[in-house]
Amino acid sequence: MVMVEAKKTMAMAARRSFQSQLRFFKVHRSATMFDVLNPATGQTIAELPDDSAEEVAAKFGVLVAGQKRWKAVPLAERREVLERFNELLRLNMPTLAKTLTTEMGKPTAQAKNEVRATVDRVNFYLENYEKVLKEHTVLETTRVKEKVLYEPLGVVANISAWNYPYFVSANVFAAALLTGNAVLYKPSEYASLTGFEISRLLYEAGVPNDVFVMSTGRGGTGSAVASLKGLGGLYFTGSYKTGIEIASHTAPNLVKVQLELGGKDPAYVRKDVPNVAAAALSIADGAFYNCGQSCCSVERVYVDKQIYGEFLDHFTKIVKSFKVGDPLEPETYIGPVARRAHLSFLASQVKDAMDKGAHAILHTGLESSAFADGFYFPPTVLTDVNHTMQVMRDESFGPLIGIQAVDRDEEALTLMKDTPYGLTASVFCKHSIDAEEILRELDVGTGYWNCCDRVSPRLPWSGRRGSGLGTTIGSINGLRTFVQPKAIFLQHPTP
Ligand code: NAD
Repeated sequence: MVMVEAKKTMAMAARRSFQSQLRFFKVHRSATMFDVLNPATGQTIAELPDDSAEEVAAKFGVLVAGQKRWKAVPLAERREVLERFNELLRLNMPTLAKTLTTEMGKPTAQAKNEVRATVDRVNFYLENYEKVLKEHTVLETTRVKEKVLYEPLGVVANISAWNYPYFVSANVFAAALLTGNAVLYKPSEYASLTGFEISRLLYEAGVPNDVFVMSTGRGGTGSAVASLKGLGGLYFTGSYKTGIEIASHTAPNLVKVQLELGGKDPAYVRKDVPNVAAAALSIADGAFYNCGQSCCSVERVYVDKQIYGEFLDHFTKIVKSFKVGDPLEPETYIGPVARRAHLSFLASQVKDAMDKGAHAILHTGLESSAFADGFYFPPTVLTDVNHTMQVMRDESFGPLIGIQAVDRDEEALTLMKDTPYGLTASVFCKHSIDAEEILRELDVGTGYWNCCDRVSPRLPWSGRRGSGLGTTIGSINGLRTFVQPKAIFLQHPTP
């Protein structure tokens, strides 16, 4: 009883603190509002407006005017502003992490990791953005010169997911702002408070308020953004289903679109892997980090039948050792999932698999009443799975994994390929040459040897087939996507 009261008091305090922050942004009431919930308690912590199509259009108009000035701001000045922003991210890390944890349920240590990764990403952009803006001459004779200029796209829209809200949105807005674009930012309805944190720090760093503007709202607001005429580009991170809708909105306006979508990423453990326990640890982390809610989470595991039993023993022990609990506690590794509705989706995948013959070697651990109101799903490991089961086909996006025994590389490869997605794949084995041979065969954007579920600012991040369209985030390629080339022919006048 005392604990319930304490939880209620904490939720009310969180709500008061967020609402006062929102007053600073003069957040208005609109015809429809949505609740922001704390997934660990189920309590409402803020209420935000769904921007209407008219409000979205008005914000876009403001940005069109702002972008004209912003693109003329000297590169060094734009750089200074984003450097200050990055410094503010670093200095505000505890607050930013707390907002993320409270709004989305990400365990605090992982929330801090996300802010650190965002700082690294922005640093990479700061170090490299001038390279993609540099004009260059491709031909020069006594009569003619041909050169290429690189110009910003204009106003770009950034419609973002909630699972790494600082990181996935900074991938877009930091690169876009540095290269001279203005940004209309539509955070996920499950991560809008982090959106306010981002806006606050960008303005504090000196980004003009007609160069970066946020629009809150759910899917309807997203469609209004995607339907805008005159966008320079639309950069979307989210589900396959929404990606298809976005593409249908942008197509009639011929807007450049990048879709970073979901995955069903496989990991394969070959029988020659030198250290089965190390492979199990890496894959368990890849499957359960961020409660399994990463686009590149390991979503299905194939293990050679000769080491299947040994692998399962290590894997189960490791997952059992992950602390499930209050995401604000520093030692918590698995918190609640972000959305209440997802609990029944995960339960339906487990039921479908078990009805078809799978076994749950782990599916308990939430008996305490502390979990009663939050959106907690028990970490679940299924064995004896196969590809007739949804858990091996559809993105789970939760603390749930299926592990299947396979007979050698041929069967592993066939199963790894059996998916409409193409984001990442990992191979755990002794020699890199064998891993590379398998990874080159797979139609995925990223391949890993003896590791998984990671990103690097220096490498391009892209999804193939159902995992993305026109996507390249990160690396020099990821910066280049925010500029467009202009060809210039110069010819001396005929004497
Ligand atoms: P989602 O598709 O439900 O929502 C994403 C965004 O789209 C939100 O801002 C939402 O409000 C908006 N939206 C919803 N309906 C819309 C519509 N009809 N038109 C326009 N906008 C609309 O996805 P989510 O649940 O926020 O994110 C999880 C998904 O994102 C997972 O599939 C995950 O794998 C994927 N993801 C991919 C990457 C990547 O790099 N490939 C990174 C992070 C997340």
